[in-house]
Amino acid sequence: MILLPLSSALADYSVTTDFPGGNAMIEQSGEDTIRITPDLRDTTTAWFYWYVAVKGAEGKTLHFEVQRVAGESSMGARGPGVSVDGGKTWKWLGSDAFKEDDKKAEFSYTFGPQDKDVRFSVGMPYVPENLTQFLSAHKGNPFLQQKVLTKSSKGRDVPLLIFSNPARKAPYTVAITARNHACEMMGSYVLEGIMEGLLAEDAQGKWLRDNVDFFIVPFADYDGVADGDQGKNRAPHDHNRDYGDETIYPEIAAIKAQLPAWSAGRPLVFFDLHDPALKGEYFETLFFLENLNESLNAPLERFVSLVERDGQGLIRVSPNMIMKHGTGYNKKTSEDGPPLHASGWAGQLPNAILSTTVELAYANVSGYEVTAESARELGRDMAWALVPFLQESKKP
Ligand SMILES: [Zn+2]
Repeated sequence: MILLPLSSALADYSVTTDFPGGNAMIEQSGEDTIRITPDLRDTTTAWFYWYVAVKGAEGKTLHFEVQRVAGESSMGARGPGVSVDGGKTWKWLGSDAFKEDDKKAEFSYTFGPQDKDVRFSVGMPYVPENLTQFLSAHKGNPFLQQKVLTKSSKGRDVPLLIFSNPARKAPYTVAITARNHACEMMGSYVLEGIMEGLLAEDAQGKWLRDNVDFFIVPFADYDGVADGDQGKNRAPHDHNRDYGDETIYPEIAAIKAQLPAWSAGRPLVFFDLHDPALKGEYFETLFFLENLNESLNAPLERFVSLVERDGQGLIRVSPNMIMKHGTGYNKKTSEDGPPLHASGWAGQLPNAILSTTVELAYANVSGYEVTAESARELGRDMAWALVPFLQESKKP
């Protein structure tokens, strides 16, 4: 939705958010300057997600001003994500391509003669259409069942993906959720990488298909992803604070009811995929959060060391990427009551053998560039590490 439409007298191009995932308040300032502010909607704190399309600006150079919200930057470490194919593929404009002061970040973009529809965002948005495109490449694969988890609050069908060998029930189970915080799209590319890993025609893929059933919820806040909400810190609480006793979102109620029944007591690994705050040294890394359930600490250490040992992706994983319980923002204790977040909830299930929140920075992991591709590689490395991890774990 365009909250502040461009004056048609001044512009013959348009800047819109009228598409899945779109988000911004847009103002025009002069003929060629576009001012963008993240639209917080029901988010109760400053947050930074925005995603716009510029149409009909072929041959022009436009200037963009991306406003801070309550002093917080709305521009990532490598500048805006840019897509010239309607959001299918993305590149960072680059860390040298913008400047920033305490009010706004600014960049310019020169549209080529073919650039009828160019997308700009704080990240590399991944919406249901991206998943549809991924799945279409695996249509007819007998290991993949596309199901409906439930209806969302707004009546949409929420996808559930079950990967399993139709010939037999696997001894192990892995469940993965992404987008418990709607805007945290880089986690979706990690998920694609995990799915690529388990469908691959290599020894690891074959072992996973023979031994593991997967329960995957690609969009835990489906309406938020489709509508372009921040999702994070939504009122009265967000989806990743909905796993306690007072569940209000149908997706989370369905996960809580269906996942334990589906895993049926088999050993369960649980990953919840996120991105942290936008930038700053503390957030420009990758974290695997230790669980409140201390018996899962050693397995997490082992899993991360296996990703480090066997990983081949650009983003190098190391044990210092484990955020220990009681450190950083991983500070909830059992005195705070039952865990409200996804990996905390899953870690309390009696058959959990590993449960962690994975926080992948939007653009930088210790200097390594986070892109759709490097995030997919990380996912593939995680899928590979599951093989020795599960082989070592006690036979069910
Ligand atoms: Zn998150």
